[in-house]
Parts: sequence; structure tokens; C-alpha cells
Amino acid sequence: MIAVGQALRSCVDDDQMAARVGGDEFVLISDEPTAHLLKRISNGLIDPFEISGRRIQVSASIGHLQIDDASGDASTLLADAEFALRHVKSLGGHRALGYSSTLREGQDLQEHLQRDLAEAMRSGQIEPWFQPQVRLADGQLHGAEILVRWQHPTRGLLTPDVFLPVAERAGMMVDLDHAVWERAMDLAHGWQTAGLWQPVLSLNAAPETISDPLLIERFLIKLHRHSIGADQIVIEVIEDTLIDGKDDMATINIDSLSEAGIKLELDDFGTGYGFLSKLVKLPIDGIKLDRSLISPLPEKSTDTVVRAMLALATELGLHVVAEGIEDATQMRHLNNLGCGYGQGFGFARPMPPDAFAAWLGEHAERPINIPASLAGKTAQA
Ligand code: C2E
Ligand code: CA
Ligand code: CA
Repeated sequence: MIAVGQALRSCVDDDQMAARVGGDEFVLISDEPTAHLLKRISNGLIDPFEISGRRIQVSASIGHLQIDDASGDASTLLADAEFALRHVKSLGGHRALGYSSTLREGQDLQEHLQRDLAEAMRSGQIEPWFQPQVRLADGQLHGAEILVRWQHPTRGLLTPDVFLPVAERAGMMVDLDHAVWERAMDLAHGWQTAGLWQPVLSLNAAPETISDPLLIERFLIKLHRHSIGADQIVIEVIEDTLIDGKDDMATINIDSLSEAGIKLELDDFGTGYGFLSKLVKLPIDGIKLDRSLISPLPEKSTDTVVRAMLALATELGLHVVAEGIEDATQMRHLNNLGCGYGQGFGFARPMPPDAFAAWLGEHAERPINIPASLAGKTAQA
């Protein structure tokens, strides 16, 4: 710490301040422009410290703020800098972050949402929404992807980008996934019993959910209770789920799901790396081509990539679902390339249960076409 203190001291002039305020925390006050100072600190810490013949590499998390005429008193300034510091520490690694009031508001929102989430799951505010998946060759309904929404009593409808990170940090992802699946199966069972639809549900699963030792037990009980067959379920996993070694819990669960007859799809395909070896080694049944590969179509370079991926899928015997189809040109193009299934605002947006039930009444048996005037006008969220 003494060596680090000395390195930091050399970053500021003699009439400015560098002080150690905690075990491994320092405060620097300087009138140098922030970017210059940050660069100097980074450079000062880049080389390993030589202590008792050992080389020690340090990395720093830096919370900073710019003092101006509108700034509060010294203790407020320190509290704000510390707030930025705590936030940047939680992100990990060698980083710097400036304080702003939006940072504090964002943090407040996260804390409130985290507090509300458990109650939301109990009281049914967490809802499954349904987005149709279509067979491209004839426009018939194939299945539906289940996408979570939160009907928050005061904040209105919340989309996953707002609250999934909160659930993840709170360690609540596994329960959240199961709550969504349970509710989706309840609804699907009702539609099945009413003869409205023979459901095929694509369920999203977070990496934590797949590596949960209780996954298989919890999941198979749910299926059985809702009289839904294993062949009516697809589980969508993302590449991060598959990172670990051969004997990890995720791999064991994936094998068990596959043995139970449940299909597995690799989501967001085409956005990561290293997926090829995973495709061959794991019992994956299909891939979902990411929207970033669909929206530019039929543009030449994307078209080449999509063709190559479809050829690879055929070679490996995998089915392919194209995500984010928004217009008829993309749909026709993908169908011509031999892509089996599609999903996107062009066919229908994700719908809450009631709207989806009404939609099923119209479309469960009839081909779904993308209207020439472009879809998405019936938009929900
Ligand atoms: P995802 O699994 O890749 O889902 C597709 C996302 O694209 C959905 O966003 C969907 O609403 C959106 N989308 C579908 N078609 C189109 C289109 O034509 N154009 C555009 N612009 N967007 C389209 P959403 O519902 O906001 O979900 C975001 C992500 O949150 C999902 O990405 C998935 O990773 C995650 N997620 C959603 N529900 C769940 C869940 O129940 N459990 C878990 N673990 N993750 C979930
Ligand atoms: Ca998905
Ligand atoms: Ca996706």
C-alpha cells in the first residue's frame, strides 16, 4: 500500500492532495483535467511493484467527479466520489467511472426493483408473453417463444432488459425462470384442453437455471402436472451456458433434458465465438439465428454468412429458427435459403396471454403472412 501511495502521490503536484483513507482506498484532489489525471494514474500503476523481490501487479477501480460551482460541500463530494467508486468496484477490473446524478438514480431503481421482485413473482406481476414462431415454407404456426414481462404496479410494463440484470445480481434468476415457465404451462394447458392449440413452447433459460442441480426434478414435475409432453418443449440456452467443462452441472443437465426428449436450441447464434465445437459435442437440436444476421438481409455479406450457417446446420442435422424477421423480403429470402422457421415483428410481436389467446383463435389453423404494409402495427412490447 505504501508503494501504491507513493505512485499516486507522484501523480499530483506538491500543492495538491493524495491521501490514503481506508485499507486500500486513496483520495486524490487535483486541478488537472480529469482525463489527463486518469491517464497518469493508470500509467503509474501499469508496471508491477517490486516488493521484497516479488513482482506484484495491481489494478485500480477509480470513482471520480468534477468539482464545479454547483458542487456541494466537502463531505457530499466525498460521498459522491465514494458512490461512483462502489459502483465501479462492483463492475470489477481496472476501470474508472465518473459520478453523475443519473448513476445514483439508476442505482436507486435497481435497489427498488430488487426489493419488489420477490413479491412480484408471488403476486403474478411476472407474466409470460408469447411470440409466435412460424414455419416459413407454408406460414403455419409452429410454436411460441415465452418472453418475460413485469407488470409493475407503479412503474408500468417492464421489459427484461430492465429487470433481468437485477434478478441476476439478486441470485433470483432460477426462481424467475421457473415462475415464468410455470405460468406459461398453466396457460398452454388451458388452451390445449380447450382445443385451441396444441402448444409448442420455447422457454428461455438463464445459465444459472441450466446449472441448477434441481433443474431436472423441478422441470419434469411441471411438465407432468400440466400434461405437456417433452416433445412440446424447446429450451433456449445461450452460449455462456456451455462454457465450462464436460462434467459440469450444465452439461449433465443438458444431457438429461435431451434424454427426456426435450429439444435444445442455441440462442443468439452468430454473435459469439467458439460455438462450433459446442454444437458438435452437445445434444443441441437447433440454432436461433440472431436478429443482427437477419435485419441486413438480403445484403450480400450477411447473406453469405447466413448461407454458410444454414449449410453447417444441415450438415449437423440441426433445425434453424431465424429471429427478428420484420418484412416479407427477409421471410422469402430465408425460406429460399432453406431456413425452416421464423419469428419476428413481421409475423407478430410478443403478446400478453389474453391477446395471444385471441390471436390463436384467428391464426392457429391458418397460414400467417406478413402484410405487405409491414408488420408490427399491432405492436405490444
Ligand atoms: P431473446 O431470447 O433473443 O428474445 C428475442 C428478443 O427479440 C425479445 O426481446 C423479442 O421481443 C425481440 N424481438 C422479437 N422479434 C423481433 C423483431 O422482429 N424485431 C426486433 N427489433 N426485436 C424482436 P425481449 O422480449 O425484450 O427479451 C430480451 C431478452 O431477454 C431475450 O432475448 C432473452 O435473452 C431474455 N429473456 C426474455 N424472457 C426471458 C425468460 O423468461 N428467461 C430468461 N432467462 N431470459 C429471458
Ligand atoms: Ca430466446
Ligand atoms: Ca435470441
